Amino acid sequence: MTSTYPAWLSGLESDGGAAGAESGFASVEELRAHRKRMLVTSYRLFGAFGWGSLGDGHITARDPGRTDAMWLIRHGVPFHRTTLDDLVLVGPEGRVEEGGGSINMTAYYIHAPIHEARPEAVAVAHTHTPYATPWAANVEGFRMICQEATAFFEDHEVYEGEEVQVSDFDTGKKIAATLGDAKAVLLRNHGPVTVGASVEEAIGWFLMLERVAEVHVKAPDARPISDEAAAIAAREIGHASSALYAFEYAAASKLPAGAVE
Ligand SMILES: [Zn+2]
Repeated sequence: MTSTYPAWLSGLESDGGAAGAESGFASVEELRAHRKRMLVTSYRLFGAFGWGSLGDGHITARDPGRTDAMWLIRHGVPFHRTTLDDLVLVGPEGRVEEGGGSINMTAYYIHAPIHEARPEAVAVAHTHTPYATPWAANVEGFRMICQEATAFFEDHEVYEGEEVQVSDFDTGKKIAATLGDAKAVLLRNHGPVTVGASVEEAIGWFLMLERVAEVHVKAPDARPISDEAAAIAAREIGHASSALYAFEYAAASKLPAGAVE
């Protein structure tokens, strides 16, 4: 895959991502620049899928120096047009501390409590997608009915609170508590949230989760594989390298090379 791998991505081609997306950065500044590039890439990727086109959803990346602050898109920017200049640093209480403009406070209410509860969660992703949002209306977790589902075997939760509009920090804390140590939570009647130890990982899980939801919606009578078989598949499909691979492929497939410099 090296030949098709865009140079502007993180250099994972050497090991398929097994060493993690964030290895090899010499300084906080370099890592920050990387996270911001990956964040812009992720917004554009969501835009390329047509997601977020009603102004719904957000992706955040924790700042590597200011670990109580996160990078977020400025309010009102269409995802597919996101640039580095559109990212703002959001600190405690949702204050914009770097970059101008305002933010969608819902992003703060959903994402900040998760970043707070999960110190290793570098990134959190949420938007209302064509399949995960309808599936979340069933208020049910995933069954093991396709390969990607095994990534979430015993590793996702369903938030059953009825706050379809998250408008305070306490609701976000309840969502974070439901998420626990899992990689994803489905917000009932709302949509999916994924987390990752890098921006790339959180987005990779998000992309895979949407495919899982699509299979659930399209194959309502599907017969799941056994828990034993799912657990075996999960060792590989549920590993972070699997998410990084999905992210790389989606970015290479959907976005022009050199798009984010
Ligand atoms: Zn939402």
